[in-house]
Amino acid sequence: MSKNHYEVIVIGGGISGAALFYELAKYTDIKKIALLEKYDSLATLNSKGTSNSQTIHCGDIETNYTVEKATNVKRTAKMVEKYCLQYGYENKFMFAHQKMAIGVGDTEVAYMRKRYEDFKELFPYLEVFEKEKLKEIEPKLVFDENGRERPESIVGVGVQSGEWSTVDFGAMTETLVQNAKNIEGKETDLFLNAKVTSIKQLGNVHVVQTEKETFTADFVVVNAGAHSLYLAHQMGHGKDFGCLPVAGSFYLTTKKILNGKVYMVQNPKLPFAALHGDPDILANGFTRFGPTALVLPKLERYHGNATVIDFFKTLNFDTNILKIFKDLLGDSDIRNYIFRNFLFEVPHFNKKLFLKDARKIVPSLQLEDIEYAEGFGGVRPQVLNKKTQKLMLGEASVNPGTGIIFNMTPSPGATSCLGNAERDVKLVCEYLKKEFNQEEFNKDLVD
Ligand SMILES: Cc1cc2nc3c(=O)[nH]c(=O)nc-3n(C[C@H](O)[C@H](O)[C@H](O)COP(=O)(O)OP(=O)(O)OC[C@H]3O[C@@H](n4cnc5c(N)ncnc54)[C@H](O)[C@@H]3O)c2cc1C
Repeated sequence: MSKNHYEVIVIGGGISGAALFYELAKYTDIKKIALLEKYDSLATLNSKGTSNSQTIHCGDIETNYTVEKATNVKRTAKMVEKYCLQYGYENKFMFAHQKMAIGVGDTEVAYMRKRYEDFKELFPYLEVFEKEKLKEIEPKLVFDENGRERPESIVGVGVQSGEWSTVDFGAMTETLVQNAKNIEGKETDLFLNAKVTSIKQLGNVHVVQTEKETFTADFVVVNAGAHSLYLAHQMGHGKDFGCLPVAGSFYLTTKKILNGKVYMVQNPKLPFAALHGDPDILANGFTRFGPTALVLPKLERYHGNATVIDFFKTLNFDTNILKIFKDLLGDSDIRNYIFRNFLFEVPHFNKKLFLKDARKIVPSLQLEDIEYAEGFGGVRPQVLNKKTQKLMLGEASVNPGTGIIFNMTPSPGATSCLGNAERDVKLVCEYLKKEFNQEEFNKDLVD
């Protein structure tokens, strides 16, 4: 076999690709693995620390998760914690902030109290923070700019200390790749500036073409964000899916307003995390509010219009997609949300409108306290399912069973990176008749 032949090639050097690269190297008997990334460094898109909300979404304060979903997410979220603790990354790029979800007004307060009862068994550390307690631990939630108490009822449900809540997922990506490369007896090669332009199947082998070189592999996993679907469509796979890129932006303050993460009650119809405020670990701990949600006709931000054509190709427009759009716009909640989020990006309107929403968290917040966070934010590759004619609420994989998998991982994809990688490692090993050391994996990342 040529030197460019690998047992497994992983495409995409974000946190999903890095986690898989690491697990293949550490927990299997696969010897030769390559990671191909199109840019000149790892994690420059959604996994970058300033692109996402830096939150380990384990289900305790995510009000859009059912108990069942939270049970699954909790397992994979714990893997992130355990990985970081195993290598001593706590307080380097993983932190334990106070965190809570708040209910504001009688309906939301009743909802949060009921949610606490439903979730306290799964998350025994959860506490109910009444207004008096909030005054002590997160006073900005209670008082307005004149020092008066907000008129609405308010309650928080969360935890003050002892739970890892925050990660710089960009830094974690770097370590996953480095730790994979450090494993002895394995050939683990990282190729930067290696943009994959096509993948072809020749018998049992996949021919992976980059702009500069040709690689071959027995198995390929594509973890290239929205471009996973672009490459799948090119090969004739995943035609039942389209991709709707939904950008998320943030507003940054120049001071510490909140002591920890404060999330709000989520509209269950929307697949995006609710607006929240929290300390940004890459901006001096100053409070960051967001993310917004704006449909964008490109697959990547901050790279000009290079991916506009890719957007039209992956949208895969037809009458099914039209029906999904019609249904989404027919729902007044979603229509208003889309329009409002569009205005969040329009100069002059954006700050004032955003302030109104953010004041639900911090009633004293002033216009001069917030600035549009230039260069922050990313794009969620939301998947449209043509068969069910629905916008999918989470991640999607295309697995034709021919030795190739394509993954699209919107939020909370960074939290579930090691869990998603575990799923794929098992599929790869089964296909290649290799061994996955589940015992070792569980010892390190689960038990
Ligand atoms: C606003 C926002 C907030 C979020 N907040 C959170 C949060 O708090 N917690 C959480 O868990 N998740 C959060 N997420 C989701 C999380 O950021 C993503 O799920 C995660 O980063 C996805 O990682 P990835 O590796 O799949 O994709 P990406 O990080 O997008 O990486 C894909 C990689 O593939 C490369 N690539 C693309 N095409 C090619 C090609 N042709 N050849 C080679 N390489 C290619 C890209 O350059 C890139 O490096 C958030 C997302 C957004 C947008």
